[in-house]
Amino acid sequence: MGVISALLGRLSDERTEYECRDCGSGFPRRRQVCPDCGGYRIERTEW
Ligand SMILES: [Zn+2]
Repeated sequence: MGVISALLGRLSDERTEYECRDCGSGFPRRRQVCPDCGGYRIERTEW
């Protein structure tokens, strides 16, 4: 149970699973276009 709680806590903290390579903004979900800079280079971040 402790391990699961730790994982859930980590996931709730990790809200930037995807990141715009142009401006560096993070998003919890993949996006087609970056809302900040309009870039299309949104890729999954390295863990
Ligand atoms: Zn951007």
